[in-house]
Amino acid sequence: MTELAICSSCGEQHSISDIELSFKRPDDFLLVPREEREQRTQANNDLCAIWGDDDASHRYFVRGLLPLSVEEWGESYSVGVWLEVSRPTFDRIRQLWSEPDQTQEPAFPATLANALPFHASTSGLAGNLHLTGPDTRPEFQLHPAAHTLFLEQEHGISAHRASEYSEYATG
Ligand SMILES: [Zn+2]
Repeated sequence: MTELAICSSCGEQHSISDIELSFKRPDDFLLVPREEREQRTQANNDLCAIWGDDDASHRYFVRGLLPLSVEEWGESYSVGVWLEVSRPTFDRIRQLWSEPDQTQEPAFPATLANALPFHASTSGLAGNLHLTGPDTRPEFQLHPAAHTLFLEQEHGISAHRASEYSEYATG
C-alpha cells in the first residue's frame, strides 16, 4: 500500500473515499409533502419528475455525477447530484438510455438541483450534461460562474475537501 501524505490542513491521512457524497433525490422533490408525493411525483434512482398544475409546470430530473479532480489521488471524487432538464432533453435521454453510442450525443443543458454543503446555494447552477454510456451515470460540467463550486471543478479539490464531503455524507 502506498504511503499517504499527512494532510497539511488537519494532520490526518486521507485515503481515496469509499463513500462519496450522493443525493438521493432532487431537493425540490423532498419539499413535496410526503403525503402528496404519490400524486405529484414519480421517481426512481435514475430519473425523477415533479408534476405541476399544468403541462408547462412539470419538472424533470436526471441523476448524474459532478466530478471534482483530486490531485493527491490522481482521480476524481464524484458527487452524486440531480440535474434538472427540459422535457425534450428528458425524453431524448430516456430514448438513448441503453444505447452504447449515446456518448456521441452533444451535451445537454441542465441545472444543478441539489444544495451542496460548504458552498453558497448551488441549486440552479447551469452547466452541461454529458451521457457517458449505458452503464454509467451522466456527468455534469458547470458553466463558468463566480461560484466556489465552479472553482472546485475547474481547479480540482484537495483530498482534505473530499474527505469533508464524505464525512458530510455519512453524517
Ligand atoms: Zn485533512
